[in-house]
Amino acid sequence: MSDLTFYKTKLEEMLVAVTAELQTIGTYDETTDNWEAIPDEEDIAVDADENTNADSVEDWNERRATLSDLERDYRNIKRALAKIETGTYGVCEVSGEPIEEKRLQFKPDARTCMAHMDTEAQLPI
Ligand SMILES: [Zn+2]
Repeated sequence: MSDLTFYKTKLEEMLVAVTAELQTIGTYDETTDNWEAIPDEEDIAVDADENTNADSVEDWNERRATLSDLERDYRNIKRALAKIETGTYGVCEVSGEPIEEKRLQFKPDARTCMAHMDTEAQLPI
C-alpha cells in the first residue's frame, strides 16, 4: 500500500459528504448506530386527498431506499477508515489478496479486489 494518507483524506472527505446527505433525509440514532429515514414535512401535513397520499407513500419508499444506499456507503467508508487504523486497509474481504491500487483510487471504500467486485454487495453490512 503506497500512500495511506491519501486514502484516509479521501475517505474522510467522503464521510463528511455522505453524512451531510444522510442528515437531509434521516436521523442518526447513537444507541443503535443506525440511520432512520425521516418523513418529508410536507408529507406529514394532513391531506385528505388520496392521490397526494399515494404520492407520499411513494416518496417515502424512495426516501428509505435512498437512505439505505447512503447508509451502506456510510458504513463502508467508516469500515475502511477503521481498517486504516488497524493496518488491514486494502485487503480483499473475500480472498485476502491486496486490492488493486486503481480500484482503490476509484473507490477508496472498496471491500474486495476486482475479481470479487460482484460479491461485494452480498457481504454483511
Ligand atoms: Zn478478492
